[in-house]
Amino acid sequence: MDKKTDLQIEMFAQIQTRKLFEQAKSYAYAYLDSVFDRNVFPTGEAIKGLEIFDEPLPATPGDPIEILHWLHEYGSPATTTITGGRYFGFVNGSSVPTSLAARWLSDVWDQNAALYVISPIASQLETTCEKWLVDLLDIPPGTAAGFVSGTSSATLCGLAAARNELLKRQGWDVNAEGLFGAPAIRVILGEQAHATVFKALALLGLGRARVETVPVDNQGRMIANRMPELDASCLVIAQAGNVNSGAFDPIAEICERARNMGAWVHVDGAFGLWAAASRSRKYLTQGIEMADSWSVDAHKTLNSPYDCGIVLCKQREALVSAMQATASYILYSDKRDGMHYTPEMSRRARVVELWATLKALGKDGVEELVDRLCEYAGQFADLLRQQGFRILNDVVFNQVLVACDTPEQTKATLDNIQASGECWCGGALWNGEPVIRISVCSWATTSEDVERSVAAFIKARRSKG
Ligand SMILES: *Cc1c(COP(=O)(O)O)cnc(C)c1O
Repeated sequence: MDKKTDLQIEMFAQIQTRKLFEQAKSYAYAYLDSVFDRNVFPTGEAIKGLEIFDEPLPATPGDPIEILHWLHEYGSPATTTITGGRYFGFVNGSSVPTSLAARWLSDVWDQNAALYVISPIASQLETTCEKWLVDLLDIPPGTAAGFVSGTSSATLCGLAAARNELLKRQGWDVNAEGLFGAPAIRVILGEQAHATVFKALALLGLGRARVETVPVDNQGRMIANRMPELDASCLVIAQAGNVNSGAFDPIAEICERARNMGAWVHVDGAFGLWAAASRSRKYLTQGIEMADSWSVDAHKTLNSPYDCGIVLCKQREALVSAMQATASYILYSDKRDGMHYTPEMSRRARVVELWATLKALGKDGVEELVDRLCEYAGQFADLLRQQGFRILNDVVFNQVLVACDTPEQTKATLDNIQASGECWCGGALWNGEPVIRISVCSWATTSEDVERSVAAFIKARRSKG
């Protein structure tokens, strides 16, 4: 007697015939074929097409081929081509082809990276990548890595480890007792710390407003000798890569001050920490090995697919004790159990793509990628300057801040660039002035892409908003 339901029979057939997957593959190839040429931002028509998704939850099963067709027909045109060569918004990286292919394969595996017994392969690749990252970034051997969704989460973990350890040293077990009545922790950071740092502080009960801010210079770098007197209750948060200017805090100086006083230093290096992998840019991250914890994104500069961030913590027990969970059914093993290092228990095995990216590039390839992104940022700045645009930052990494003659002209030019479909940049306020932000973050960007984008800037400045 066959007890399979119709829906279940249908699903087995979908696996056996592969029609569905062949269809998805051919749509994906069509997307890849168009991604380097089509509009960087969706057209008005494509956005309008999204209305089809605004429907009530269907009561009955849908037709699988039609579902994929909707995504191809209405979804794909409404994507931004982050993976192409002319998307310069936020600090959004592309995906190295090998990592994309590895993700396809691992999507089929659908592994849960919580425990060794749930996924030995995820456990092994996390062990491998932890060592590789320590080597690549030149931080102390034995440093622990947790594989999380991005830097927001990585910073949360790093600051949680810091909070627990600083309080433990004062005889307070924050896991057990919570923060009410705990000794105070002083939080010291630069005036331009990233919004996600404040979010993490709020989530951890350390408060957004009770921080001590250190003045910054005109690039957004913390002025180290304007730091307050530090002591053993201090959590210092430095930045490797200002999200607008790309500038790096003087990390060596900050760490030296902190180390002498027993303070904890966390480095938010979302996109900038990768400078450590380049011989010509390593001076920017000088001293990072003296910090206690770091957060970094693989989905930005490294060009691993979303979502992939990493928390690194020199004192393994500090991270593990901050992330601990116990229950009788959780089977810990003597191999790596990924959930010891992350807030989540169940978690997709994002390390597969990270491993594939690092293996596909190797040390030399990472260095070449970092250097190339920086070189094209420099080319952008040079060409725009020649055309009478103002470049407001020192272009030390992959970020360029551009302004026209007046704030109104800058804003109108940015609107026109965004509407052009030729390239896409975001905006920001820099020292009170509106700017166009360029972030060169895709392996696919070429010199021609930079030239074509500069032409779009010139045209956008000319045309009325
Ligand atoms: C992008 C960024 C973050 C946030 O990272 P997510 O991966 O988006 O969570 C934090 N800090 C800096 C400096 C960033 O550039």
